[in-house]
Amino acid sequence: MLADIRYWEHQATAGHYAIPHFNVWNAEMLMGVMDAAEELRAPIIISFGTGFVGNTSFEDFCWMMVSMARKAAVPVITHWDHGRSMEIVQNAYKHGMNSVMRDASASPLEENIRLTKEVVDYFHPLGIPVEAELGHVGNETVYEEALASYQYTDPSQAAEFVARTGCDSLAVAIGNQHGVYTSEPKLNFEVVEKVRDAVTVPLVLHGASGIGDDDIRTAIRLGIAKINIHTELCQAAMDAIRANTGASFLELERAVRAAVKQRAAEKIVLFGADGKAQ
Ligand SMILES: [Zn+2]
Repeated sequence: MLADIRYWEHQATAGHYAIPHFNVWNAEMLMGVMDAAEELRAPIIISFGTGFVGNTSFEDFCWMMVSMARKAAVPVITHWDHGRSMEIVQNAYKHGMNSVMRDASASPLEENIRLTKEVVDYFHPLGIPVEAELGHVGNETVYEEALASYQYTDPSQAAEFVARTGCDSLAVAIGNQHGVYTSEPKLNFEVVEKVRDAVTVPLVLHGASGIGDDDIRTAIRLGIAKINIHTELCQAAMDAIRANTGASFLELERAVRAAVKQRAAEKIVLFGADGKAQ
């Protein structure tokens, strides 16, 4: 069934687990993560973003997301990830997303606040929650270079940012990075603790593919309530493709779906979200 991300993020915070957020941009990924959620009785977030529009027409694929979310026996949130403009998140809402992220984290603080608040003011009367980002989780390809100029979330800005924007959840930058980590992720958990103490909204960890299980458990223990996974689903799919050379396209598609399901299931269990759907 379609679910409210606010309810589930607060459940997760109170229950010391995290809601899995899976970026899905084709049928195999979507079906794979849904298979895992149904089997493990987990609430999940299925999510699309601008980075995928070169591969998949969102305005068509969205209806498969919404249809599967509605039919599911478990709670499913349809989410737009990293909305870079008001127009983009409005389009996401028009196409069935019931949760949006407005990411203005590349802008200076005052601009980030202004742009985020604009989206919050538009969406709250519609009943749609908004995730925001303070600090900046980038997309650099070399992790060491990213760390050299990393923009950590400043805990002293967190309370003001949340109060002035009215955002419903907050993505933090603690050394996490999108894509593949080219060396061991170095997470600054002190930032999580300080932000956790400064605000009451749920906290979100992006770029969690490639972060070790122990660090994930620590992040959840310190108050992360939503964790985003994309790259590891792609890696699982690629492993299946390489392992099935010679298979027909039909067989390959099933193998990819199964591989995505398996990886999603591992994350659901790691995040402690299994069995949490009621
Ligand atoms: Zn992200």
